[in-house]
Amino acid sequence: MATVNGIARRLCTGMIGATMTQALADFCPGILHAVPAKDGLLMRVRLPGGQLPAATLAAIAGLAARHADGGLDLTARANIQLRGIRPAALAPLVEGLCAAGLLPSAAHDRIRNILVSPFAGVDPTELIDLTPLAATLDRALIADAALARLPAKFAFTLDGGGRGFDPGGGDLTLTAVATGAGPRLHLSLAGRPTGLGVTADAATTLLVRACHALLAIAADRDLPARGRVIVRDPAAYEDFLRRVAAGACPAPPRRKPSAAFGILAEATGHATLLPTIAFGRLTATEATRLSEQANRFDFDIRLTPWRNLALRHVDRSDIPTLGVPLDGSTGFAGLAACAGSEGCAQSLADVRGDARMFANAIAGTAPPDDWAIHFAGCAKRCALRGRARVDLIATQNGYDVLFDGTLAHAGLPPEQALAAARTAYPTKAP
Ligand code: SF4
Repeated sequence: MATVNGIARRLCTGMIGATMTQALADFCPGILHAVPAKDGLLMRVRLPGGQLPAATLAAIAGLAARHADGGLDLTARANIQLRGIRPAALAPLVEGLCAAGLLPSAAHDRIRNILVSPFAGVDPTELIDLTPLAATLDRALIADAALARLPAKFAFTLDGGGRGFDPGGGDLTLTAVATGAGPRLHLSLAGRPTGLGVTADAATTLLVRACHALLAIAADRDLPARGRVIVRDPAAYEDFLRRVAAGACPAPPRRKPSAAFGILAEATGHATLLPTIAFGRLTATEATRLSEQANRFDFDIRLTPWRNLALRHVDRSDIPTLGVPLDGSTGFAGLAACAGSEGCAQSLADVRGDARMFANAIAGTAPPDDWAIHFAGCAKRCALRGRARVDLIATQNGYDVLFDGTLAHAGLPPEQALAAARTAYPTKAP
């Protein structure tokens, strides 16, 4: 362990100064790329596959308490953000994260965005458990120096074909489909099915080849190496298909998204718990308590795209003892909000204060599984993933309120905007 820590310290040495310099030029955060926000520096820690061992959660919680604002923000790409970091705290925080094994490659700090179903391995409906593929892909990315040139927001989604979880936005997605010859993994580029696929044992090679194809095509055409850019350029897309050169594979069928909170059955008779976490933010104390419970009650933890956690392999008799909110009646189920004026200088409203008022007003009722409401401090809509039933977007003149993506009210004061949102809330008893 001493050797590992020594390597981690050497890895971090000399990078802290670079961190601050990069902060000014590039606003996609990483461990070595802390970016300035209204409340201090902000950092994003990648957790490929959303895997969060209890020891890792405890380590991050301790570092957040000592060197950041004491909170862990869970992201929709199943990573964790730390914020409110003072410049003097940056070096010990980076060193602590390195020592916890969370920065295996400085060059690949920000490109290890690998989203896997939070139910992988315990979902009775999945075709393939893609947990091992996430680990193999992560190792392949780190081993390939050229892939460090992928854009910081580049993202992979690995979908074993069970419960729906994909919020969209992945550059490269593999989805398991059943075929007469056994399961295959179908490749999509920025959500567009390519009709190409491979068996699971060839998947890492395919994804690495696809990354190199995107980098080469982007360099040839002076474009960003992002799936959504290449897919919009017919010649570039054709070039991509040629370079990927995989076999034909049927596109996956559409599936209903999973519930984002509650108790879900596992194949073994155990349960997966999806607690509601207000604004996807855990305090360090809550995170430490969860890590202790994971050890004591022998469950494992994965990050989800709904900014909460999946507590897996839970013995049903332990559920009351865990004391986590599962019935969706806190008012925060299905609610997403950006940092607003509490943490972002661009915000035109106290988004979180208004979202809290909405949550308090509906607390005690439980929404249906597909309820989604989103609050944004400006048109950038950082917290939105996929679609929301109700969208409140702050403008210079008040909130614009959208229902299913269509503008219903423009420039409402907060009380009227919240009242309008209430009209779209499909109350049902908890
Ligand atoms: S949506 Fe706008 S106000 Fe909210 S965090 Fe993003 S940039 Fe800031």
